[in-house]
Amino acid sequence: SAVVKKLFMQGKVVTINQEIDFETAEEIALEFNCICEHEEVIDVIAELLKEEEEAADTLVTRPPVVCVMGHVDHGKTSLLDAIRETHVTSKESGGITQKIGAYRVDVNGNTITFLDTPGHEAFTAMRMRGAQATDIAILVVAADDGVMPQTIEAINHAKAANVEIIVAVNKIDKPNANIEKVKQELTEYGLIAEDWGGSTIFCPVSAHTKEGIDNLLEMILLTAEIIELKANPNRKARGIVIEAELDKGRGPVATVLVQKGTLRVGDSVAAGSCYGKVRAMIDDTGRRVKEAGPSTPVEIQGLNDVPNAGEIIMAMDSDKEARNVAETFIAENKKKLLDDTKHKVSLDALFEQIQAGNMKELNIIIKADVQGSVEAVKQSLVKLSNEEVVVKVIHGGVGNVNESDVVLASASNAIIIAFNVKPDNQARILADREKVDLRTYSVIYNAIEDVESALKGMLEPIY
Ligand code: GDP
Repeated sequence: SAVVKKLFMQGKVVTINQEIDFETAEEIALEFNCICEHEEVIDVIAELLKEEEEAADTLVTRPPVVCVMGHVDHGKTSLLDAIRETHVTSKESGGITQKIGAYRVDVNGNTITFLDTPGHEAFTAMRMRGAQATDIAILVVAADDGVMPQTIEAINHAKAANVEIIVAVNKIDKPNANIEKVKQELTEYGLIAEDWGGSTIFCPVSAHTKEGIDNLLEMILLTAEIIELKANPNRKARGIVIEAELDKGRGPVATVLVQKGTLRVGDSVAAGSCYGKVRAMIDDTGRRVKEAGPSTPVEIQGLNDVPNAGEIIMAMDSDKEARNVAETFIAENKKKLLDDTKHKVSLDALFEQIQAGNMKELNIIIKADVQGSVEAVKQSLVKLSNEEVVVKVIHGGVGNVNESDVVLASASNAIIIAFNVKPDNQARILADREKVDLRTYSVIYNAIEDVESALKGMLEPIY
């Protein structure tokens, strides 16, 4: 936690499981007086970062945090509503359920936390800030429609973030529902049902008739049990801002998902460039609460400003410290933005980036006018991998380059290759802002050639 805090004070928001670049590791090692050979430095940092995780006796099981993804109109919102209707008891609050961006359900005494904003764009936008809110993604696929472009996008976003995927085959009440067809189509994307010899959980559901919902919830709990989600509730809170807005009467309000520790009314907190004292907390049933432990969503009041979604929020020792952190964040942010830009991958500067950051993997997103071209470009590019650099196509699809592609590229440090298609307006603006290298081609050979020559620069000299 000392290292994470140190980095945070420098404006670098990292999580305990995240890799940091060599330069940063070296700087920290010097700070903490651990001067040793390069590999050893990395080991020392890994040890420091692990320390907190390994205090096993402080860790207790926490509820899974789940989000819902999938193609438009496949029933994400309906599914979230159906789960909320059937499993949230709003007795305590007099029947009023609050929409705070997340809600908890109780399944036979176990809790599941659902993030209420469906869609993978929101999910990856958070990840862009280095934060990961979700443990399990529910991939909703309509049984009458099957795998569609955004289904594939969602799969690749979830895979890039390394979260568990459970498939909910929705709309099974429809006469033309075909569950087996969905299973068959998804095999192509590495999601293979258990009865097809794989290990992905498929849950047939209907958000309309509520059939299969209980089973889906049980499967979520089962998955959570297997991946063993734990956190230490007895430390200062650390969480992530799910959403935030300026409320006319109450000032800035932020929905926060507590990830570690316990957040209490009266705590001094910092969230990005914002700080304050938690004046009041409301839980997902609209009740005022005094404290919130790991995996609990709460709406808090008391920040001096509206933080960004995805920002890390941390409880600090004092008001002064919280304010310091926020001010440091603002001061360092400009520098950080510049640094970030420097670290974004681009074909032109690949060689220098390799030298600076030991890059071993080139992530690529391919968009093309027809599936055949996606496959052709993909296969040619993957073949360019060599001992030093692995070329990985993290997403490929038919159609113009959209916002979702750029967000994924930014979060995964990928370049985008568009073949016979263009970026749409929003994608162009975002790519510009996020400094994502987006290249358009009309001849496959030119795309291959560009990547190949950039990769040649990537080769480290072999003696
Ligand atoms: P989203 O865009 O993925 O959030 O999809 P929605 O939840 O808005 O649902 C899209 C449409 O499908 C709506 O008209 C829903 O009423 C309908 N729908 C959702 N779930 C089901 C289901 O289980 N069965 C049937 N028959 N229709 C559904």
